Order: sequence, then structure tokens, then C-alpha cells
Amino acid sequence: MSASPEIEEVVRHLLRAKSIAVLTGAGISAESGISTFRGKDGLWEKYDVEKLATPRGMYANPVYFWEWFEERRREMIKAKPNPAHLALAEMEKMFPDFWVITQNIDRLHQRAGSKHVLELHGNAFTIYCTRDGYRMETYEPLPAVPPFCACGAVMRPDVVLFEEMLNEEILAKAFEKARSCDVFFSIGTSAVVYPAAYLPLEAKRNGAYLVEINTDETPLSRHVDVALSGKAGEILQKVMEHIQK
Ligand SMILES: [Zn+2]
Repeated sequence: MSASPEIEEVVRHLLRAKSIAVLTGAGISAESGISTFRGKDGLWEKYDVEKLATPRGMYANPVYFWEWFEERRREMIKAKPNPAHLALAEMEKMFPDFWVITQNIDRLHQRAGSKHVLELHGNAFTIYCTRDGYRMETYEPLPAVPPFCACGAVMRPDVVLFEEMLNEEILAKAFEKARSCDVFFSIGTSAVVYPAAYLPLEAKRNGAYLVEINTDETPLSRHVDVALSGKAGEILQKVMEHIQK
């Protein structure tokens, strides 16, 4: 199968690269049927997400918060990694230094087989006690919401809510990977939410070849070396086919 000149150019850079960093956002999960956080598809319209998904919203009404969150969690439990996740997991095996930096909380990269994943916004499957910090991981639907710790306090998901800061250690590592990589991919992210939106620019400033894969043009598009428009699954599979030739 012949590839477009853009894909050939991406492959040429990949074949010379030692370290790769990949930023992924809601667009890559959308290809697995997961609705976006803000939900322009209307699924979450009945909830005022920006008020609800804050620490204040959660503590004010844990039942309401968890009804909303558990519905999202169940959608993620049912979802399966798509060809984009699988291609990235496959690619990881080909490079000595390959990192996925994700804004998604659905663990689909890990479920596809990726080992080096930095979760900027945490994940939906780890929950912890708001009083004593006791943590547990569950990939099953919760029998009741909100979940309670044995100590009696309500538990919360290990995700970054609106108005909360990102984990500094993970963010620092993400920037380190962005600065040191040879090729940086920005996939399925609108590239408008900071600080994650700085990552591709930081990569480019430090000499990386910058590739964007998205269905739409984004504010990042004019800064990239190549913008590939379309479904991430199809594009990454073409890249992989071409590399393996
Ligand atoms: Zn507890």
C-alpha cells in the first residue's frame, strides 16, 4: 500500500529517531466510543460539569458527583482500545525511549499494551479515601455510589478535577520527555488546555520533529512540521505498515 508524501516524511524521521513522545487527548478515546469530557454530543448536558467536577462540587454532593462519574466510568469499562492505541503500543516496542503522555483517564493505552504511560489527569479506576488516603483499584462497576472507605469516609477517583492542579512529578517528567525527544506526536487533542498545550511547543523548541494527527485543525496546527488530518487509528496504522516495510 502506498503512503502519502506526508506519511513517508514522518516515517523517515521515525527511522532516524531514538526517542519519541506522544501526547494524546480525548480524540483518540472518541475512536473507542468514549464521549468527551465536556460532551458536545449532549450525553452530559444534564449535568453542569464545570461545577460538579470540582473538589467543591464533589464534597458538596458526593452522590450527585459519583452518579455522573460512575456513568462515565462504566462507559470506559466497556470501551476497548482502538487501532490507534494498538499502533502506539506496537511502536513502543520499536524504540528504546518511547512515552505516551495522555490527558485521558480511561487507561486504554495500558489496556492496549503500552508500558510507558504518563497520566496527566490520573485515571478513573483508582479511587482513594478522602480522609486517610487508602487507595484501591477496580475495573468493575461500583455496586453503589458514592463508594465508602472502611473508615466511613467517602472515596474519590484519582483524577484531576476542574480547579485542581496536575501532579507536579508527572508533569515534570512529561516536560522532560518532550524536551528530549526526536519526534513528538500530538494526537486527538485540541491543544488549548495548558499546561499540556505547552508540551508540543516545548518539544519543537528543543529540536523535535512535530507531528499532529487530528480530525480538525487546532491552534497547534500552524506550529507543526506536519499535520495529518483524519482518524488516528487509520493514520497510525499506515505509519506502522510503512515503517515495517
Ligand atoms: Zn478511609
